[in-house]
Amino acid sequence: MTGTAAPGSHMLDSLQEKYSRQMLFAGIGEEGQRCLLASSAVIVGCGAIGAASAGLLVRAGVGRIRIIDRDFVEPSNLQRQTLFDEADARAATPKAVAAARKLLAINSSVSVQGLVEDLNPRNAGELLGGFDLVLDGTDNFETRFLINDFAVQSNRPWIYAAAVASYGVTMTVRPGLTPCLACLLESSSNGQGLEETCDTVGVLGPIVNLIASLESAEALKLLAGREQALHNRLVSCDVWSGHFQSVSVAQNGSCRACARREFSYLNGQAQPHVTLCGRDSVQIHERGRTLDLGALRGRLAAAVSDVRHNDFLLSFRVEPYQMTVFADGRAILKGTKDPAVARSLYARYIGA
Ligand SMILES: [Zn+2]
Repeated sequence: MTGTAAPGSHMLDSLQEKYSRQMLFAGIGEEGQRCLLASSAVIVGCGAIGAASAGLLVRAGVGRIRIIDRDFVEPSNLQRQTLFDEADARAATPKAVAAARKLLAINSSVSVQGLVEDLNPRNAGELLGGFDLVLDGTDNFETRFLINDFAVQSNRPWIYAAAVASYGVTMTVRPGLTPCLACLLESSSNGQGLEETCDTVGVLGPIVNLIASLESAEALKLLAGREQALHNRLVSCDVWSGHFQSVSVAQNGSCRACARREFSYLNGQAQPHVTLCGRDSVQIHERGRTLDLGALRGRLAAAVSDVRHNDFLLSFRVEPYQMTVFADGRAILKGTKDPAVARSLYARYIGA
């Protein structure tokens, strides 16, 4: 789903009114605002951090935004994912679609595109290419290292952002100028503290929105041409303990990604066809097939319950499992961690 308006067509008057408070801020000014309107960013993952960052950037007038997300809105998202509401959860609307709709209602003079896709090594170049900046809204390190590989290889900046429980971290990566995510996480005991996930230890709304705010402020500096204002530090915060920290990270001279240029996430390991995603969920990736969801619904009607169907997905229950199938053949199975169970359910209900 795409919504567009030409970002270059702003009348000076409406620009001055819409973005007046931001242009009054000395760090942005009219020149910075013009840079923002001409800039672009792609946000990978539209959960709490991605949704909050997308909202801030669209309101700030970043001219072109793409949102990539593989999942759909559920009631448990609403506590922290600020772009979604109960109607989105009832309809199981894909997050990328719900987000794009909401964002265009907020600011119709920028271009917003929502893509229901799972970022992987095969489509990373196509989905991330051609944007000034990549923002991290993901919930897993495999995807973050894939983004880092893409960014380092193509010499594009990206911003790492993660939160779990009451704690979060963010760091801006500018290849060639700063350390990268592999410098930070692959070379030492640095920052390995985010192995728990929101699905196991929970997460608070305030920390994701705080981290998204820090990430978005860095994005505005980069996109407004104010690189000198970037803080170049790894910032971590805990909204429960009140502990805030900002540390300088060293570039690793033998870093796999930015020194040795071994892009193993982007090139080497092909993504397995079945991966764990979150607590008690398994994702079966694209099977290179297009499904007729309407026909599938008709075929399954008698065998399954709680059927929900929209243009993008078909979701149903087969006790004790919840199965969600996307039009590109991808499926998410909740209620199991066992890839074999997921494969067998897929074969049984969707087809081998
Ligand atoms: Zn590095």
